[in-house]
Amino acid sequence: MVSLEQSKLEWPKIKDLMIPSEKVAHVQIGNPLEHALLVLVKSGYSAVPVLDPTYTFQGVISKTKILEETLGIEEFELNRLGEIQVHEIMDAEVPCLSPEDHMIDALHKLIDYPFVCVTNEAGEFDGIVTRRSVLKQYSKHYHEILKHYE
Ligand code: AMP
Repeated sequence: MVSLEQSKLEWPKIKDLMIPSEKVAHVQIGNPLEHALLVLVKSGYSAVPVLDPTYTFQGVISKTKILEETLGIEEFELNRLGEIQVHEIMDAEVPCLSPEDHMIDALHKLIDYPFVCVTNEAGEFDGIVTRRSVLKQYSKHYHEILKHYE
């Protein structure tokens, strides 16, 4: 019987699947929400990673969180976007992966999150793994198996 550890070896490592940090849109912990919203709207992403000035991963900020924060009793109070910093409302309790983990390790996490951040041993941000990249791998694997049986 094949063990879980053996089966993981058949799949690519996270470092071979991830979008590298230089291609990932991000914001800094001290940025005002106004800047974060601009990055999110311009990039078209619903959430992006938050880093500190040493490139250490700190959390994730989303459009939903920003809009929730600025929603007053009757209307959006957009003047608050310049008063609040990203670290005050970001989600800091998010799972991360290591570059040496395997794709299977990302699967469970990607059920609840559209992307998972990859950090090295020092906590520095290395990149992200997205649902898209994992689904692409599965699709490739499926078609390879089909070819094998044809
Ligand atoms: P996808 O699986 O490609 O739809 O990506 C899922 C989520 O990952 C997106 O909604 C974004 O929040 C995030 N994402 C994907 N690519 C990037 C990127 N290059 N920079 C920042 N965030 C990204």
